[in-house]
Parts: sequence; structure tokens; C-alpha cells
Amino acid sequence: MARPALTLRVLTLRPSIPCLIALLLACAGPVAAADTTATRMRIDQDELRSGDHVLHIQIAPDIDPDRARMLRAWLAETAQATLAAYGRFPLPDATIRVSEVDDRGSSPVPWGQTSRRNSVAVLLYVRKGASLAELRADWTAVHELSHLFHPYLGDDGRWLAEGLASYYQNVLRARSGLLDEAEAWRRLDAGFGRGRREDSGMRLDELSGTRHGTMRVYWAGAAYWLETDLALRERGSSLDAVLSRYADCCLSGSGEVAPADFVAQLDRIAGGDIFSRIYRRYAASREFPSLDAAYAKLGLSGTSGELHFSDRNDAVRLRRAVMGRR
Ligand SMILES: [Zn+2]
Repeated sequence: MARPALTLRVLTLRPSIPCLIALLLACAGPVAAADTTATRMRIDQDELRSGDHVLHIQIAPDIDPDRARMLRAWLAETAQATLAAYGRFPLPDATIRVSEVDDRGSSPVPWGQTSRRNSVAVLLYVRKGASLAELRADWTAVHELSHLFHPYLGDDGRWLAEGLASYYQNVLRARSGLLDEAEAWRRLDAGFGRGRREDSGMRLDELSGTRHGTMRVYWAGAAYWLETDLALRERGSSLDAVLSRYADCCLSGSGEVAPADFVAQLDRIAGGDIFSRIYRRYAASREFPSLDAAYAKLGLSGTSGELHFSDRNDAVRLRRAVMGRR
């Protein structure tokens, strides 16, 4: 889709989502500012910028202008949520493409995927007629954008890739206020419950390559990133911090990286062997990993459907460090 000749509406905003949405929907006159500090996002018609990293927006040309404007507002909010990881888009240049589809299902975004051919694009297929409220409540767009935090990891690494996106779809939506913090924990817990019910007995890395066992692949993967995040936080670091440094040194939007090489690089950055050690255990696991130790640290308990939150100070602090508003 060609960019318009004039891109006068240039806004620079702190990450205040209601403000962002209000401004975009109102489409007030030109507001210019030069500040491009990392946690701010600059918006114009077809580009979102954080520092010198840019996300291009391409709305299918058959979508009428009013609806396209609403979709841009939603995408801006979604992209803003991803800044809650480490304050900038992971890749210097990527594109979000939105098309509409006729779909009778309930999902406002029935399909999304990341394309890594010559350039990197996140493709989102929005149900015709889906409202802004429905789109904001949906996880798909944040999930797909979270795939930009990692390189392409092949079929064997699908559990790492889908796990990272499944973890961050909840974490980033909570941090940015799209999801209540407790609800984000409940959704992670519900995902782990769905993953636990897959009982093929296959190794996770083999299951990952079969394109079956989706729930275990996604949610055992999410459990991996939760475990590594908590282990890093015990050492005063975090998954956000390590992925940020990975983006600086090593992240490529295209080209395949072997899963073991990816986690080895994360270990080189973090120092130690947290990523590789837990990776080996998860890859070889034939059932859903136990999260008892993680839940004990987080002060989470209960069975599926009813999650309880301890008010122990250290547990509250840890949960907030992961999910708290940024
Ligand atoms: Zn995914």
C-alpha cells in the first residue's frame, strides 16, 4: 500500500494508552515533537517509531478510511504494549499488514502470522466488523508482535518461539494496562492447564516438529520463559534485559538460528547457564514440566479455574516485577 504524500500528523507520546487512543481517534491537528527517547513512540499515518526503529503499518486498500483509522489506533496501542519489554521495537525495520476476513467465529483476529522472507512482516487478519473494544481485548496482535523478540527457530524450536510469544502476550498486555495483572496470571495458569492435558508422551522438541500437540508446545514453551525469567530475577536481571541485549548484538529478523545456539547466546549475554540448562530439561521432557517451584516463589496456588494469590511481600514484589504496570 502506497504511503500518502503528506504525513502531517506526527505525534510523540509517552506510553499512555488511553491518551494515545484518544488522540488517534480524534485525529487532532498536527502535533510535532522531536523527542525520540527509547520508551516513547512517535506516530504518523503509516509509521510507528521508537528511537530509530520503525514499524510500518499497511492497511489493506479495500478497508474504508474510518475503519482504517480505527485499525491504526489499535495497532499503535498494540505496538506501544510491546515497548513494555525493553523500551524499543526489537528490529530496526518491520511491517504490520492488516487485512479483513469474513469469519463467523468469535475471534476478532482469527489469524495472525509472522513472515520472515526478505523483510519481516506481522500479518494480521481481522474479522470484518470487529469493534475496537473486541480488538483491544484480543491477544493475537501482541502475540504476533512478540515473535519479533526472537529469531526464526525452525520446527524444533517452535516450542521456544510460541512459548515466548505466549508468555509475553500476557506479560506485555498486563504491563501496558490492556489486561488486569491478576487476570494475566490467571490466563497464564489456564494456558499451563491446557498444556498439561496433552499426554502423548513425546519429547517436547519432537512434538514441536510434528505440528501437533499445540497446547503443550505453546504453554510448556511459556513455562520455560517464566522459569528462566524468575531465575534471572533472582540474580537481579530479567528476561527483558537479556532479550534487549540480544536484540543489540545478535537478533536478525530473517535466517534460521538453531534453538540450542539461541539459548547458548542468551547464556553468553546473561552469564551462566540458566537458559541452556532449563532448555535441555524442557526439550527432553515427555510431560508438562512442574511449575511448583515457580508458583511457590510467585505465591500462586490453586487448581485450574481458581488461582489464589499470596500477599507475602516477596511474592507480591515478584509478581509485580513481572506483570506490574510500566
Ligand atoms: Zn505464535
